[in-house]
Amino acid sequence: MKLAPRTAGLLGVSAVIALLPFLPVPAFWITQLNYIGLFSLVALGLVLLTGVGGLTSFGQAAFAGVGAYASAYLAVKHGISPWVGLLVGLVLTTALALVLGWLTLRMSGHYLPLATIAWSLALFYTMGNMEALGKYDGLLGVPPITVGDFSFQDERRIYLLIWAAALAGAVAVTRLLDSRPGRVMRSLDVHRGGGSTMPEAMGASTFRHKVVMFLVAALLACVSGWLFAHMQRSVNPSPFGIKFGIEYLFMAVLGGVGSVWGAFTGAALVKLTEDQLQVWLPQLLGTSGSFEVIVFGIVLVIVLQRAPRGLWPLIERFLPAKQRVDPDDAAPALPARDKPRRGEKLLQVEAVRKAFGGLVAVNDVTFHVDAGEIIGLIGPNGAGKSTTFNLVSGVLPLTSGAVKLRGQRIDGLPSREVAQRGMSRTFQHVKLVPDMTVLENVAMGTYLRTKSGTLAAMLRTDRTEEAQALAEAHRQLARIGLGEMAHELAGNLALGPQRLVEIARALASDPSLLLLDEPAAGLRHKEKEALAAVLRQLKAEGLSLLLVEHDMDFVMNLTDRIVVMEFGTKLMEGTPAEVQASPQVRAAYLGTEH
Ligand code: ADP
Ligand code: MG
Repeated sequence: MKLAPRTAGLLGVSAVIALLPFLPVPAFWITQLNYIGLFSLVALGLVLLTGVGGLTSFGQAAFAGVGAYASAYLAVKHGISPWVGLLVGLVLTTALALVLGWLTLRMSGHYLPLATIAWSLALFYTMGNMEALGKYDGLLGVPPITVGDFSFQDERRIYLLIWAAALAGAVAVTRLLDSRPGRVMRSLDVHRGGGSTMPEAMGASTFRHKVVMFLVAALLACVSGWLFAHMQRSVNPSPFGIKFGIEYLFMAVLGGVGSVWGAFTGAALVKLTEDQLQVWLPQLLGTSGSFEVIVFGIVLVIVLQRAPRGLWPLIERFLPAKQRVDPDDAAPALPARDKPRRGEKLLQVEAVRKAFGGLVAVNDVTFHVDAGEIIGLIGPNGAGKSTTFNLVSGVLPLTSGAVKLRGQRIDGLPSREVAQRGMSRTFQHVKLVPDMTVLENVAMGTYLRTKSGTLAAMLRTDRTEEAQALAEAHRQLARIGLGEMAHELAGNLALGPQRLVEIARALASDPSLLLLDEPAAGLRHKEKEALAAVLRQLKAEGLSLLLVEHDMDFVMNLTDRIVVMEFGTKLMEGTPAEVQASPQVRAAYLGTEH
């Protein structure tokens, strides 16, 4: 088997790391590396949570505290094995993270950081005040971790355990990010143009994915705390307080919160410079104190000014580029939906109404789409097209009326359930994940046709299904004529191709009905022609489409029927020729368009 340069590099670095304690490296440096490994584990969780998900937690040190105290308490007070202690710590952490996540992650961004601060403070004072946990003095005489007769009793031995855990964590997170749930996680960061609308429309529960990210981050911190307690052979509350919670964020952000290796860069940098600063600053200033914190604050601001994604991307430039593997087009197809027969009633929109306060944006509009048809919904700006689109796709609740897909009511359902029933959509304002490849973006469309979860991703038992998903994505890209662009980053594409990629993503869900919201908006003439060609081809292949568009010329040659809206009501419905000939429609468009 030929190794990719990156994998070979990782194996090389791992081998060096594994050898270090057997070489005459001074104990001081082994201890430093131990701390770096422990910090990296925690920072790794923040890469996932903050860097990928855009969620901030100040409570990671507290989760480390749970791991440390659970095992230390059981070992010291009850003579229980550290391995059982680890298990108890993980269970406790899971329970705590689920409760905290459940309470805060449904709400917008600020609740999680606040809740993690509160939780961090609460745990700190609990640890410091409980008799059983030794109050602020903590617990002494924590035994080393053992496997059979082998005891990880000194810094050289526990080093092996720490770095095995840190590297395993890095590999697990890397694998997670390159998977079905990982793609959803990478689409969430609101600070980088993400959010929940698109993944929900692809059928994913964004809340669930946020909870999983929070949980994984908490568990990584817990393992770090466990290792720390048995390395230190004692625990006390101070390393698990809010100060360390902030410091972990420093590490992750400084090192590069967008990459797994940024966590290691940040942990190393903070640990090594902090030690130097602790020695030098008091000498320089002639008095003692935690001045390094101030220096770090300043350094952080400067670094983020210069390199907003942290230091790792600067290092990464000198490494071989990530190898993109071509999808295996021979992978078996994903299960397909049973398709409606041509002419079957597909979408029925019955007297839908939407009132925003006193404004009736959509006023009892009725129309239908039969299988195999392309219907255009047109009208001047402000006519209520987008609102109608949102009512049909489950983004907005109806005031009254009904929407049926294949005979079943879908109004009132969240958009991911609407997607589940076979409706897929694109967005007027393109929603692609810019730092994912075109192929990965399209693969998001297969979310509902695949099953693999977080654990399968980390253990790589998802590879067969993943190959199927990527092959499907590649097929859909080829279908719209962008097969060659598969490995391009989506953010590098022009608007026209981006809109086509959105169509491919929607097609990857194997929809019965495809909804397009102003697909031609903002496109240049050539791009519009390319788009029209693709839509015509989809129509020839028998797909059903609802096209919301205000560019009348664009829909004329494409559609079977056109529904015209004005001021929230249906003005008329007819063939393109009838609509074109209608004086009413011309009047509606005159003065507002062209
Ligand atoms: P179109 O897509 O045809 O340009 P829209 O559906 O976006 O029209 O808007 C129809 C009308 O509803 C407009 O007058 C618009 O200002 C109003 N409208 C749309 N969304 C909202 C909202 N969330 N709150 C209040 N008014 C809205
Ligand atoms: Mg609109």
